[in-house]
Amino acid sequence: MSKICEVCGLPEELCVCEEIAREVQTVKVYTVRRRFGKLMTIIEGIDEHDIDIKELTKTLKAKCACGGTSKNSQIELQGDHKVKVKEVLSDMGFSSDTIEIRESKKNNKRRR
Ligand SMILES: [Zn+2]
Repeated sequence: MSKICEVCGLPEELCVCEEIAREVQTVKVYTVRRRFGKLMTIIEGIDEHDIDIKELTKTLKAKCACGGTSKNSQIELQGDHKVKVKEVLSDMGFSSDTIEIRESKKNNKRRR
């Protein structure tokens, strides 16, 4: 028995809604420094209605070999995984043009 997609009315195995949604998401990836100086990678802009964010978090955690959680349409990964995240999302069908990596200003190192 297969589920029917509420958006397009096709059985889930034929539905491409999520694939289409991935191409049009504008995803922001950046790092923040949390308490005790821990770096977290934040992935923002995932539409939970279109994308299975729990599944995506699981995939990212596995590919980056790190811990993480998702809440409020935001994924948090432990450590700095900006480049890897973009790679993984691109592989999953997210358009790399819409994945924006932001460098956090506070982390700029001074040149000597
Ligand atoms: Zn559909």
